[in-house]
Amino acid sequence: MTKSQANDMSTMRKLNTLLLLRTLYQVQTASRSDLTRLTDLSSSAVTSIVKDLLNKRLLIEKQNYQQRSVGRPRLPLAINSRCWYVLGLHLSGDNSVDLVSFNLQGEYINRIKLSFDSFAPAAVTKVISEGVATLSTKLEPTARLIGLGVSLSGVIAPQTGHCTYSERLNWHKIPLVSLLSEQIDLPIIIERDVNALALAEYMNLEKGEQKSSLAVLMVGNGLGLGLIINGQIYSGVQGGAGEISHILNFTDRDQLDKEQCYCGQLACVSQLISKKGISKQIAKLFPGKTGFAEQPLLWLQDRSKPGNGLSILNRVAVTTALLLKLITETYDPAQIIISSNFQFDRESQQKILNVYGDRLTLPVEFKKEVIFKNWSSFSWAWGAAAVVINNFLNSIDFWRNL
Ligand SMILES: [Zn+2]
Repeated sequence: MTKSQANDMSTMRKLNTLLLLRTLYQVQTASRSDLTRLTDLSSSAVTSIVKDLLNKRLLIEKQNYQQRSVGRPRLPLAINSRCWYVLGLHLSGDNSVDLVSFNLQGEYINRIKLSFDSFAPAAVTKVISEGVATLSTKLEPTARLIGLGVSLSGVIAPQTGHCTYSERLNWHKIPLVSLLSEQIDLPIIIERDVNALALAEYMNLEKGEQKSSLAVLMVGNGLGLGLIINGQIYSGVQGGAGEISHILNFTDRDQLDKEQCYCGQLACVSQLISKKGISKQIAKLFPGKTGFAEQPLLWLQDRSKPGNGLSILNRVAVTTALLLKLITETYDPAQIIISSNFQFDRESQQKILNVYGDRLTLPVEFKKEVIFKNWSSFSWAWGAAAVVINNFLNSIDFWRNL
C-alpha cells in the first residue's frame, strides 16, 4: 500500500469492505460477531460496513433465523442473491451465443440470444451493447449491474485486457475493452475463456473447501489449460500461459498418428484428445460410419474390441495421463479438473488415472485428485461472470463504479 493510500481512510474502508464480502462469500451465512472473528476487524467496523452494505442491498439479513430469547435479535447475514447482477458471454467464433445474467452467487437468472453476422470488432461491439440493453430490461426495475464479463477464445493481454490474438475470431491486437466501453456504461472485463472457466470452478470449490491452486484441463473442440494460483488466474506475462494445444507431439509408430496438425507438426496433443481430434481418428478407422461426433469416447467404448478402436482409446488415455503428469510436475497444483464437452467413460477415466500414477516420476503422494466434469456452452458465460464477481470481491478499483 502506498503512503497516500494508507492516509486515505476511504481506501482502508473499501479494503475492509472487500475483506468482509469475501469472507461472507466463502462461509455463505454469518452473524456480525462471526464476521468480526473471521475478519479480525473491530466489531464497530463490522457493524458500520454491514450497515452500508445493507443500504446498498448487497447484503440481506436472513429473517427466518431462530431468534435469541434475550437482547436484540441477531440475524445472520448473506450476500443478496437479488438486486445486483452480473452479465456474461462467450465469444467463441459461434454465430449464435447466449448473453446471460447471473446473481452475485453466480446463479443463473436469465438470458437472450445474440447473433453475429460478422466478427468485425465494430459489429461485435454493436451486437453486444444492444444485447446488454435488452437483457437489462428483463431484470426487475430496481436491478443494478455490477459489470459485464466477456470470455473469449484467444489470448488476452493481462495489463490492458485487450485481445492480442484470436485464431477463432481472426483477431489480432483488438482493443475490445475500449470498444465496448464506448458503448456500454458498465465495468467490462475480458478474459481468455479457459482462464475464466477455471476461475469459476475454483470459486465453486472455494465455497466448500479452501484450496490454494487449481489446474483445469479443458478438452473440447480444442485444448487448453487454465491455472489458478493463490486464488488468482495465472495467465503469464503476455497472457499466453496454458496454450497447450501444440506443446507435445506424439509420433509413435501408429500410422493414425501421422496426420499433420495445421501448425505443421505431426500428431499434436490436441489432435489426439480433443473432441474434433478423436472424431477425425474415428472417421479414419471406421470409414462411412457416423453418429460419433457428440460422444466419441462412448461411441468407441461400445465398439472397443482389439484392433477395433481400442488403439484410439488407449492413445486418449495415455496422452491425457501424460498431460496430467506434465501439469503435476510443472505446477504441483492442489487439484486437477478435466473439464470436457464430451464424456470420458468410467473405463477411460480409470485408465487415465492408472497411467498417470504409473508415469509420475515424483513419489505417489504427488498424484493429484483428478475430477472429471462436463461443461455446457452455458458454462463459458458462467466463467465470464465469475471473473467479474472475483474482481468485485478483490479490487477496490472496481468499487469506483458502485
Ligand atoms: Zn499442432
